[in-house]
Amino acid sequence: EGKNIVKDFKVSSNALKQPMMRASNDVSFKMYKSRGMAVVGESGSGKSTIAKMIAKMYAPTSGEILYRGRDIQSIKKHSDLMKYREGVQMVWQDPFGSLNPTHNIFHHIARPLKIHKKVTPGNKKELEERVYDLLEQVGLIPPKETAAKYPHQLSGGQRQRVNLARNIAVGAEVVLADEPTSMLDVSIRAGVLNLMEEMKTEREMSLLYITHDIATARYIAEDLCVMYVGHMVEWGDTDEIIHRPQHPYTKLLVSAVPDPSKSIHTKLEGNNGDIPLWTPDSLGCPFAGRCLHATPRCSDELPGVTKLADNHFVRCHLHDQ
Ligand code: SF4
Ligand code: MG
Repeated sequence: EGKNIVKDFKVSSNALKQPMMRASNDVSFKMYKSRGMAVVGESGSGKSTIAKMIAKMYAPTSGEILYRGRDIQSIKKHSDLMKYREGVQMVWQDPFGSLNPTHNIFHHIARPLKIHKKVTPGNKKELEERVYDLLEQVGLIPPKETAAKYPHQLSGGQRQRVNLARNIAVGAEVVLADEPTSMLDVSIRAGVLNLMEEMKTEREMSLLYITHDIATARYIAEDLCVMYVGHMVEWGDTDEIIHRPQHPYTKLLVSAVPDPSKSIHTKLEGNNGDIPLWTPDSLGCPFAGRCLHATPRCSDELPGVTKLADNHFVRCHLHDQ
């Protein structure tokens, strides 16, 4: 669960009057067992920042992230940190960068099993069986042959499967997947998404799926959160939002869906250029510069949250009650 998370970064101040950038502003969310939450937005929308804060790669400037009711910033003891990292795992965009080219696949799966004491120390046979079993579970067959290979001998999709096998190996409860398929060929994306869907339903994992592609979000996530320059602009039930988008930015994203190869950027270019830089002093609605419905109020006042349905929220002055 995230509560009112704010994250500011120092940016190189040469070109900018403001040395700080606000990557997240008042971000709150809840994640559940066996449920997926997709965070959708363009690059620069602050989606990865959220995942990295959950992964404890950096701390929020304010607000808190709770895991089983505990503020993760208070997790300091080495053994507690290990437990947290076991429970909350990350899958990166680049499946190659996350694997060590000098070690074979066996080593990649065996290592987390040993570190997190998922096998009896010294029991080679048990370790082998676990590794082969995991490879089989993620569809890397025959497992023995795959285990003997090195990362460069696998396709991008297979490498991403190795990463997912490592998440399963340690019994992850939460998987943070940052554009896990964006570097894969379109033809193998579905297989990797299917596997993540399976991990969610069968292993009761909670999935945070970060993407710029609202179509895949729909496939894998029950909850959707649309972000624009660090702000949640619309969130709630994925199907409801896709069928009845209410924020002007979400409408734009959804209208781009029939042709996902057309990037959001091309769609938006005709409509006022660049993503603004948000600073701690910025005012108004982050989307005001691009919004066809903007009024003077939109540039002065950050819209509040309007509840449209049980699980559907929006931040836009058009919906102020
Ligand atoms: Fe557009 Fe104003 Fe709504 Fe922002 S608050 S999305 S600028 S109408
Ligand atoms: Mg990113």
